[in-house]
Amino acid sequence: MWQKVWNTQNNKLNQIKQTVKRWRRNPNISTSDEKKLNRARIGHTRLTHEYLMNKGDPPLCQSCGTTITIKHIFEECRMYEKQREDLNISHQIGTSLGPNPDNEIDTIKFLKQLKYLIYFSQHLQCTKYQITNS
Ligand SMILES: [Zn+2]
Repeated sequence: MWQKVWNTQNNKLNQIKQTVKRWRRNPNISTSDEKKLNRARIGHTRLTHEYLMNKGDPPLCQSCGTTITIKHIFEECRMYEKQREDLNISHQIGTSLGPNPDNEIDTIKFLKQLKYLIYFSQHLQCTKYQITNS
């Protein structure tokens, strides 16, 4: 069961990674910022599926009580409405996380304001730890 979930997860991850690779690199953003952005793009599946592997509950938004997904943060959550408006973040993750150079810069600014960035990196470490020990 665990392996099955991981395989599904991994395939999805590779698909997104390949897509991300094909996109032209934006010369106006640093490599580390690009990593953050790609992590958010990939985090869409990690965040929504990882709890299955941990056999825990899906992560909940402290403000809304609904399941946290990248989509929730970028499109739905009221808690980030002001930031999204200030930074002109599109209400469609297809646009805000897409390969448009102008959107990329705004999206990075938004990501930097998110406390969830820390949450993402913790999750990534968590996953690595589990893989090594399985
Ligand atoms: Zn919310």
